[in-house]
Amino acid sequence: MKKYSLLILMVLPFITMANTIPLEKLIGQFNEKLDQEFVALDNTVLPVNKSGMYLQKEPTEQLIKAYHDFKKQYPNNPFIIVSATRNYNYQNGIWQRKWDTLFPKLKNEQDTAKDILKYSSMPGSSRHHWGTDVDITSVSSDYFRSTNQGKILYQWLLENMPKYGFCQPFSEGREGGYNPEEWHWSYKPIAKNYLQQYKHILQQDDKAIISKLNFAGHNKIKLKALLQEYVLDVSKDCY
Ligand SMILES: [Zn+2]
Repeated sequence: MKKYSLLILMVLPFITMANTIPLEKLIGQFNEKLDQEFVALDNTVLPVNKSGMYLQKEPTEQLIKAYHDFKKQYPNNPFIIVSATRNYNYQNGIWQRKWDTLFPKLKNEQDTAKDILKYSSMPGSSRHHWGTDVDITSVSSDYFRSTNQGKILYQWLLENMPKYGFCQPFSEGREGGYNPEEWHWSYKPIAKNYLQQYKHILQQDDKAIISKLNFAGHNKIKLKALLQEYVLDVSKDCY
């Protein structure tokens, strides 16, 4: 018995650590390029549409398998990573650009936020902060619905990505949150822990997150309600 108690005492800190993701990582306030858990996609076989993109190691390995299997079946069909990890600062740049265009027209903070949120996240609330999520080939639903190459790719992704651990968070048929995104896939074994923890903090201590967010309009919108809707309203496949 003694031996086992000692073993449990030794292992316990590691179990607890594994379940606790640092808040900075949950909200993207870190530099993925300097993080040891992240790898540069430029150093992999994955085709990319720009240099300098990073992902966590395990999703990268699984994505490479998916890529090879897709290419075996469809050698001439594009399978390109067009977005991977986007940290808070990067997301804030996207948000600010859209805000500067839309707010002068809509003249209302909540309306402006809701319009941006059709497709783009508030800094601090994007799944792209986590290093588990990627956009594949195109960020236009038209591509996946109306072109041959897009239809083939989407059908393949739906049928095969779960085998590699990926789910589609912004699927059809949810009640709120972002519009459907055929291109966005998430590495569930890791991302589900991020989602659980984000949900837990929103329920227990939302100020811990909210006090760290400082983007255009943040203090004029229904921030907590928007975080709950856009972070939590994802496909049940991703929980
Ligand atoms: Zn995405």
